[in-house]
Amino acid sequence: MSHSNRNHTVRRIVLPSGRAIEVIRFSEVEPTGRQLSMCPGCSGDLVQPLSWSESSDGCWELTLECPNCWWTEAGLYQREQVEQLEDRLDEGLAGMINDLRRLTHANMASEVDRFIAALNAGVILPEDF
Ligand SMILES: [Zn+2]
Repeated sequence: MSHSNRNHTVRRIVLPSGRAIEVIRFSEVEPTGRQLSMCPGCSGDLVQPLSWSESSDGCWELTLECPNCWWTEAGLYQREQVEQLEDRLDEGLAGMINDLRRLTHANMASEVDRFIAALNAGVILPEDF
């Protein structure tokens, strides 16, 4: 799958963090229907939108970035692709919240373990309460 026959320009944008990046901007709607969360640079599945705005004829103009290899691209994408990306982001968020829950649970479990260990060691005495 080659992009060489598509018109594109390279544009430099500055992120809110102050980092300047160069993005390739395609002037035509992405024709392939590829999955936007997949990074063409590192084949990761972490691509995220830096900005998006609705364009005419139901397309979306997105600036995308991979947090893994810093691949970026800006262009027009089909609504289905953008919705798919949104779903993927929702899944990512849900996964993160689950991880956080597990982590919080693990922290509590280790605190309970420490408490039990302290009890068993006789370090905690009735006058501590
Ligand atoms: Zn990447």
